[in-house]
Amino acid sequence: MDVNASAGDRQEPQDDALRLCREAFLDRIKAVCSFPAGAEAVRAEDTIRLMGTFRDDKAKTFTSTLDGPDNEPALLGRVLASRMLSEAGYAPPAGKVWLVGAGPGDEGLLTLKGAEVLSRADTVVYDALVGDGILGLIPQKAERIFAGKRAGHHYLRQEDTNRVLVEKAAEGKNVVRLKGGDPFLFGRGGEELELLTLFGIPYEVVPGITSAFAVPAYNGIPVTHRDFCSSVHIITGHRRADHTYDIDFDALRRTKGTLVFLMGVASLPDICDGLLKAGMDPDTPAAVLERGTTARQHRICGTLGTLAGICAQTSVMTPAIIVVGKVVSLADRFAWAEARPLAGLRVVVTRHRDRDSSLASMLREKGAEVIENPAIETRLLNSEELCEAADELALGVYSNLVFTSPICVRKFLPILFRDHDIRCLANVRIVSVGDLTAKELGLFGLRADWICSGEDGDEFSRGAGRTLILRERTAFPAAVKEGCDSIEVYETVNVSEGTPDIASQLRAGEIDLAVFTSVSTVKAFAACCPGEDLSRVRAVCIGEQTSKAARETGMNVRMSEKATLASLEKELEKAGNELR
Ligand code: SAH
Repeated sequence: MDVNASAGDRQEPQDDALRLCREAFLDRIKAVCSFPAGAEAVRAEDTIRLMGTFRDDKAKTFTSTLDGPDNEPALLGRVLASRMLSEAGYAPPAGKVWLVGAGPGDEGLLTLKGAEVLSRADTVVYDALVGDGILGLIPQKAERIFAGKRAGHHYLRQEDTNRVLVEKAAEGKNVVRLKGGDPFLFGRGGEELELLTLFGIPYEVVPGITSAFAVPAYNGIPVTHRDFCSSVHIITGHRRADHTYDIDFDALRRTKGTLVFLMGVASLPDICDGLLKAGMDPDTPAAVLERGTTARQHRICGTLGTLAGICAQTSVMTPAIIVVGKVVSLADRFAWAEARPLAGLRVVVTRHRDRDSSLASMLREKGAEVIENPAIETRLLNSEELCEAADELALGVYSNLVFTSPICVRKFLPILFRDHDIRCLANVRIVSVGDLTAKELGLFGLRADWICSGEDGDEFSRGAGRTLILRERTAFPAAVKEGCDSIEVYETVNVSEGTPDIASQLRAGEIDLAVFTSVSTVKAFAACCPGEDLSRVRAVCIGEQTSKAARETGMNVRMSEKATLASLEKELEKAGNELR
């Protein structure tokens, strides 16, 4: 094979597949380097053998061969080229694919292993059923590819998805394929592994919590119970293109077990009819469980005889499953999810990118579905001044030290503790603006002497002696009085990359409440929704300044009585009760 040959030079029989795979090989080599390259392809029935070669700038020749299916010729070319380039050290080593079950919606139901591989992903290919909370866990730097079907979005066909997985991994990416529920349960996970196997791409499967079990559980329905049944069956209600079902209703009746139908909403009347015709008792409890494990979860209960009629009167929201069996009668007694204080609320928490999510965790613990919006970045300012202030603190220049936000704590204390230790604060009165700041101080082993709301800057310098105020560039300008020094520790910048699409969720009525803990969070939220009517936003704010900023944007504002988490929680509960 002549390495200087290009695909077009050669006299090959008219075979598009052979030409395509050679061209794809040469294109991929060319995209990475300008080394002379050549390719030859031969066919053996439905398999193509591609031989590729290139010579690098040290005159070393690399040659390799790869067999692949003839219906994916371009992919074959690109995979061989990527593999050879990486073996020769001109491209990263091949990556791997993780087929991960994301669970039914609630982000807490992603497995530890799923979260772990997701945190290391370079590329994430995800479906429509993957919960927003889980999408929020995708690393900022990772490429996101939507592979589901959703109005107004581009989506990939199944063959394209299979192809993308192979291609990205061949390019050296760690690819996470996120699928709703469990990837092998009516999830086409098996189909996606076929092409990976054919091309020798390494993969792992991370099973997920399936909606078939989790959605009943979140509705208080145990899928088995010794008093009622001894088996559970998961069936697809999806009808084939020729409009026939592949369901043996007689066999299902004989099992006497709990029946869980996925993808069955459109076929509900036929499913009920089929089971009744097979002789099942019309009084058997049955339910449709909509959007389970999310804030929008809802249950429509009836019996096998009545359920289809009840559902015909309302519009059933999807995704939904159908459960048939005596265990359904336990739902109202055991329904625990809706009994949580913040159940049914979708709450947006706009926060700093480099902050933890303790507020979000608290809200989740109380039953809210939380959309984290990490739309703010902080940049350290005046680091020299901060180092000097640290030394002065240690020398006893200041009697009062005011932290006006948790980020001030995070940015300043590591600087202070670089050359000094905690004893240098022994005689300093520590003032914290708000509960969250005090909590952050606690992480450094410090307790605030005084937690104030920050509304009245005079509070800062109430103690005797000099006061040092640490603040965000634009925050608390009025607090700087006689006897006070102030340092602008950081500034906040709004960022949009990797944040959820807040604007379209707002328009769709998918945001019940938005929580704001500082003026910068209000501004960042508003920046996510340019041109939107913000009077639709029900804001719950901590502190007067934050509330004022929210009011100015036109939001509907309520303020927590105190600047504490407990008070915020109470306010959210009140707001939630009014919505329900
Ligand atoms: N692999 C998925 C199922 C994919 S099929 C799993 O293990 O859960 C898609 C069907 O799953 C939907 O039609 C619906 O019946 C069901 N489903 C998925 N998520 C759901 C949810 N949060 N609530 C109700 N049904 C859900």
